[in-house]
Amino acid sequence: MDDCIFCKIARGEIPSKKVYEDAEILGFQDINPQAPVHFMLIPKKHIASLSAVTPDDAGVLGRMLALSGRLALEQGSPDGYRTIINTGRIGRQDVMHLHIHIIGGPEPLGRMLPKTNV
Ligand code: AMP
Ligand code: ZN
Repeated sequence: MDDCIFCKIARGEIPSKKVYEDAEILGFQDINPQAPVHFMLIPKKHIASLSAVTPDDAGVLGRMLALSGRLALEQGSPDGYRTIINTGRIGRQDVMHLHIHIIGGPEPLGRMLPKTNV
């Protein structure tokens, strides 16, 4: 995808602070962190959102989740963390390339969502 910002990051055309890379997956720091630890895991292949995945994508998605614990620990979240996948308009997804936010830090995070959403 020529115009996709996360595809550009995956191709190295836009700089990022990498926390992990293999043939299929890239991890990098969020440019606007919401907590002391906040990085993203993306598939290098363009997948627009979680609602666009196919059964063929199950392997890479599973590997992304399986990596999250080790990377969160390495990045400074010693006792758990939060994973967030915003999806589509309702999920307030801003960047239309599937990404898992990994959020944490040395202390517990705030509540998951503001109560006003109920
Ligand atoms: P979402 O609302 O789930 O689509 O989140 C998009 C995230 O991408 C936000 O947390 C942004 O701070 C982050 N972001 C946008 N551009 C960049 C970039 N160039 N490098 C790192 N993170 C970015
Ligand atoms: Zn993309």
